[in-house]
Amino acid sequence: MNQTIQELAAPGVQALRPYAPGKPLAELEREYGVANAVKLASNENPLGPSPKVLEALQAQFQDLARYPDGNGFGLKAALAHRLGVAAQTITLGNGSNDVLELVARAFLTPGRSAVFSAHAFAVYPIVTQAIGARANVAAAHDGSRGPKFAHDLDAMLAAIDADTRVVFIANPNNPTGTWLTERELRGFVERVPGEVIVVIDEAYFEYVNQPDYPDTMQWVAAFPNLLVTRTFSKAYGLASLRVGYGVSQAALADMLNRVRQPFNVNSFALAAAQAALQDEAHLAAGVRANRQGMQQLVDGLRALRLDFITSVGNFLAVDVGREAGQVYEQLLRQGVIVRPVENYGMPGYLRISVGLEHENRRALEALGQVLSA
Ligand SMILES: *Cc1c(COP(=O)(O)O)cnc(C)c1O
Repeated sequence: MNQTIQELAAPGVQALRPYAPGKPLAELEREYGVANAVKLASNENPLGPSPKVLEALQAQFQDLARYPDGNGFGLKAALAHRLGVAAQTITLGNGSNDVLELVARAFLTPGRSAVFSAHAFAVYPIVTQAIGARANVAAAHDGSRGPKFAHDLDAMLAAIDADTRVVFIANPNNPTGTWLTERELRGFVERVPGEVIVVIDEAYFEYVNQPDYPDTMQWVAAFPNLLVTRTFSKAYGLASLRVGYGVSQAALADMLNRVRQPFNVNSFALAAAQAALQDEAHLAAGVRANRQGMQQLVDGLRALRLDFITSVGNFLAVDVGREAGQVYEQLLRQGVIVRPVENYGMPGYLRISVGLEHENRRALEALGQVLSA
């Protein structure tokens, strides 16, 4: 064998840089010997899931030896009821990342391209490159015509070429927290050629409280090429279980279903998500807590005279005015895990997830100390 294993891999995989997750708490405590660390690095829900979820999980233990319902009948029915759509328009995923990957596998090939914005969610380039398709990365706003780092929909339209089959949009985007209005986004969807699948990734949908934030579920019936994705990982507090979904017309869902693993969502995740949907009070409490925590972070960052990008999610990108990787390391030593985002083309920024009151305070204090040292 005169080729290395790497050279034997598919072309897209050879140059692929895997997703860099937030550092787990246990790893920090092991490596740095700090106790009581706080993790504000993965946009997780600090309140955790509804107590109803825990009950539903207990009940699932009886069926541990059985395969899950590969069609997710119960969860799809509950979602269909909640969203006002038909069950056959729903595609369930092992997290919404799974749905994003299904799109790439069903619609991209090495000769085709996907369009997404600079500074957009890291999974879009990964799933595109893994297939060996081309990424047409549109420049983001530079601050002159829209919020700096936000998706520039005109630039994204211009990046669509004859080979483009998928456009990924995050609304709001992670790690920037920037968002698109109903008018802007609807105009964009109307102008995208019908042979391009438009994916609107709404992982933070439940947190957004802007009057002109779009209700894209209403658009699905009009656009055969539209897919809206959401997740139970963020506002519903189920990140560990991996469950998300896409909504599209049934013909598009049929294509995604062809490349889906038969049992991609396990029975605990199915039961938990269904129970989570029933507890609207818990969801509302989490959204309220996020609003208060966001205000606490905003006030604290202003007091530290730090710039940040206004965010409608459960996280905030902060301009630390120097190489953020070093600040990240120093925060780790203080037992505070945040996320450096140089892999998003934002080397001077740290992304901080909104936590509980004492966690936010801890992060702000540590940041103040590190930056004044
Ligand atoms: C967190 C996140 C997701 C989803 O993650 P899953 O846990 O796989 O559902 C999707 N898109 C964006 C922009 C995210 O930040």
